[in-house]
Amino acid sequence: MNDIRKINQEDFIRDSERYDVKSLAKKYDVCLDTAYRWQKKFNIAKGLLKPREITWVVNGGCWICTSHKPGSNGYPSISQNKSILKIKYEEKYGRIPKGKCMLHKCDNRKCINPDHVTIGSKGDNCRDRHSKKRDCFGERSPEHKLTKEDIIFARELRLSGYFYWQIADYFGVHTTTICDALTGRSWVQAFGGEKNNRCYRSRE
Ligand SMILES: [Zn+2]
Repeated sequence: MNDIRKINQEDFIRDSERYDVKSLAKKYDVCLDTAYRWQKKFNIAKGLLKPREITWVVNGGCWICTSHKPGSNGYPSISQNKSILKIKYEEKYGRIPKGKCMLHKCDNRKCINPDHVTIGSKGDNCRDRHSKKRDCFGERSPEHKLTKEDIIFARELRLSGYFYWQIADYFGVHTTTICDALTGRSWVQAFGGEKNNRCYRSRE
């Protein structure tokens, strides 16, 4: 699989004029989606293609984005790591300092009003999310491997005398995952409990 950083932009643009996306993908050894994305990206960079205009409707102070769909994090974005809210914020107030992040003050993820954003530390963001009960936990976590039902079943298995490693084997996950889930180190909030931030794996 090729990497966009290793691709010569000029070559790619020249090739993209010559070949269709399918042949491009084959030539650069990438999937169709990637070839298409690169083609668009390079053409935008070259000024051959205009990026889609960002549009919104105003609703009670919020700017509801109508031109772009939410990305995987739920915020309208133009690419994986570029949310429109961030673009709008930086247009108005300049770059966000390193190590800081945006705190969205209104609860509408589709809102791209830069004035509904304040800048805080990563810790502020955590506390903010926690206070609004929007933490990523359980099945909401993008990395979740088990479901709530799995956990309930795993608990039953444990009560019937199965070992952690056997249960882990059954679900095809690491023993630590099961151990954490069944001893209250994870999956606490999903069942209505409070998260315990104590570090259990400290080396002391
Ligand atoms: Zn808003």
